[in-house]
Amino acid sequence: MNHVLEPAIAASLVRREVAALPSYDPGADAEEVAALSGAARVIKLSNNESPFGASPAVAEAVRLRLTDGVSRYPDPTGKRLAEAVGKSVAVPADRIVLGNGSENILELLCQTVLDPGDLVTTQAPGFSLHEIFPRMMGARVKKVPVTAEFGFDAFAWRDALAEGPKLVFLANPCNPTGTMLNVGELKSIVAATPESALLVLDEAYCEFARPNPEYPDGLAVLRGRNRPWIVLRTFSKAYGLAGIRVGFGVASDAGLAHALNRVRTPYNVNQLAQDAAVAALGDQAHLADTVHRTGLEIARVTDQLRGAGFRVVTSWANFMFIDTGHDANRVAQELHRAGIIVKAWREQGCENFIRASLSIPEENDVFVRCLTAICAKGKR
Ligand SMILES: *Cc1c(COP(=O)(O)O)cnc(C)c1O
Repeated sequence: MNHVLEPAIAASLVRREVAALPSYDPGADAEEVAALSGAARVIKLSNNESPFGASPAVAEAVRLRLTDGVSRYPDPTGKRLAEAVGKSVAVPADRIVLGNGSENILELLCQTVLDPGDLVTTQAPGFSLHEIFPRMMGARVKKVPVTAEFGFDAFAWRDALAEGPKLVFLANPCNPTGTMLNVGELKSIVAATPESALLVLDEAYCEFARPNPEYPDGLAVLRGRNRPWIVLRTFSKAYGLAGIRVGFGVASDAGLAHALNRVRTPYNVNQLAQDAAVAALGDQAHLADTVHRTGLEIARVTDQLRGAGFRVVTSWANFMFIDTGHDANRVAQELHRAGIIVKAWREQGCENFIRASLSIPEENDVFVRCLTAICAKGKR
């Protein structure tokens, strides 16, 4: 497929901001890696998906809907899901915004509040869509670097927030590092964010961090604060529904939710996704099991990698940020040849880092063995 427009056409039609936009990197294509490696089964560690799958109740809900037929449009308000989500976080349903993945809500937020030239603050290294969507709207993006230990830099954040952003994107836990802000750090961000700015707390991985007593429930910290905020969560990661696309935002007030709802396309969350999410939310035992297994396995694999001499950032999510000690692009290519897909991190200062999602133990063992062999070879 050819996605490239003829230069003359692109120049005359495409907005300047779009022409200059970096594209999102979804990682290598599994079929291409299968062909390249000859591996019967590709080990995909590039998208932070759940190796433990979704609750069996999800397949049942989707099957029921398919039996019923899909000729009708989905519920445009997502009433049943919004109410189930609202109940689970003790917030009225009119403050819940549903998205075709939480990415969709990041996009809606930018479309709703950003004018060209506005300032957006986020972290580096970080989630690329926290930069791509603002730039699409013509906003400027200030990226606050992490500390040398990949932790949160309170002083740098305080200075950046003093510059008067209109929108602040903060992921907790953070992607790609897997680090988390503790209660005090989150509170310091909330205090330093101008009241005129919209504070967006992206909690895509919150379920994995919750067992840590230092991890702050963003809703608990923000609830009752008289300022605009929204907490984003998703069914893609711990709930194992990445392929079906559904996430949600909990807004500070119904007015903000209403504004976002005016911007989104009316049927942005399809009916199978709405039904699947209600079913997933109803199976908290499956979620707890996924979180438990992820925690044990991430500790085990991190230990193995450190034992093999790698620097690995301590992760409170379902992926690891690993210093390979070599050019990450080359390491990723070698892993592809072995049938393993990871993401080489391309941000400045992270040129030797890969991000690898957790899989099932057998696949993680293959990954550790291959990575160790590749990097040992590179040393000679
Ligand atoms: C994966 C991820 C998301 C959203 O994923 P969706 O599948 O669109 O819900 C949002 N933010 C961060 C930081 C992520 O890593």
